[in-house]
Amino acid sequence: MFNELNNRPADSLLALIKAFQADNRAGKIDLGVGVYRDATGRTPVMHAVKAAERFLLENQESKKYLGPEGDLEFVRLLEPIIFGASPDFANRLVGIQTPGGSGALRLGAELIQTANPSATVLLGTPSWPNHAPIFGSARLQVKEYAFVDLASQQVKFESVIAALSSVGEGDVVLLHGCCHNPTGIDFTMEQWREITDLLVAHRLVPFIDLAYQGLGDGLEQDAAPTRVILDAVDEALIAYSCDKNFGLYRERVGALYVMTRNGDDLRKAESNMAALARVNWSMPPDHGAAIVRTILESPEMTTMWRAELEEMCLRVNGNRAALATASADLAFISRQRGLFSNLSMSKETAAALRARHGIYMADSGRMNLAGMQPADAGAIVAALRAEGC
Ligand code: PMP
Repeated sequence: MFNELNNRPADSLLALIKAFQADNRAGKIDLGVGVYRDATGRTPVMHAVKAAERFLLENQESKKYLGPEGDLEFVRLLEPIIFGASPDFANRLVGIQTPGGSGALRLGAELIQTANPSATVLLGTPSWPNHAPIFGSARLQVKEYAFVDLASQQVKFESVIAALSSVGEGDVVLLHGCCHNPTGIDFTMEQWREITDLLVAHRLVPFIDLAYQGLGDGLEQDAAPTRVILDAVDEALIAYSCDKNFGLYRERVGALYVMTRNGDDLRKAESNMAALARVNWSMPPDHGAAIVRTILESPEMTTMWRAELEEMCLRVNGNRAALATASADLAFISRQRGLFSNLSMSKETAAALRARHGIYMADSGRMNLAGMQPADAGAIVAALRAEGC
């Protein structure tokens, strides 16, 4: 049987981790894998998470099954953080815990496939490399369009408008709610409003991927586009990840929300989400969601978490500012948000940055700005100049 399989390409980011570890030059800089790093280069367990884990260790009384929806208190406590203080959540929102944002995207894709198998999913590129495969695996047609011009680091807004106008009622538009991966280029609020008008006019269904809330400009600001869209449209999906903003990566913590203004449809979506979860993973893993719930149930732990998240956000934006100060050519980096920027470079240039300068970034030119210290800015700029970027 397995002889029929074809080999798949190895994950290039994992190869990058290995190459970085094997490099014994003192000044090497790891801008590769997309995780937050602190000023000592580590990806620590947040203090709020440690406090919640201690609490759970002492107080959790059972690990019996919860059900395909997972921890619904976790799902509910996230709602005001994502959607704001709105009294009518219960009338138009339903959510389910998922294994990470990836699980939420996959479940949402399958829900779309179940409801409307002929729906097209519009995806601006470049995007997170797993987006297109996830929708493809759910047998949905993906239509890609160039959302950004990397050479000028500008949104191609006419191309966005043209793409949104090229699909029709019931088609789905994947949108990064904030901190675009891999470019760091988010729409302005004015552009979000224009996009929202088009979603409404063409009766398109936004699928908002919110994986970095709090790492751009803060929790409230990063949720603003999502809230503008949800106020205007009749139906939407939101894939949420707690893996970055709670530093829980390998615990796989996320949620899928569906918004619809029709109560019957809401109940149908809810039962289908549970049924799809059941055949995929039966139930999501509990520990990470229990941590987030414990934090959000405790005012003290919530304060601790918010302060730590803000510190992370400030550090990344400080690194952005350091690069922009070191080189006027990189001024755009300080206007971008989230962990990433995507420089326009060839694979060969990315390889030369590694080989000659010990600066590790993805072959695509994506750099993780949490991987550097402000003091590294000069070395990074000099290396980029030496390689003609
Ligand atoms: N969406 C985007 C844009 C991402 O960058 C990521 C993670 N890199 C995810 C979704 C998935 O997050 P998770 O690790 O929670 O599955």
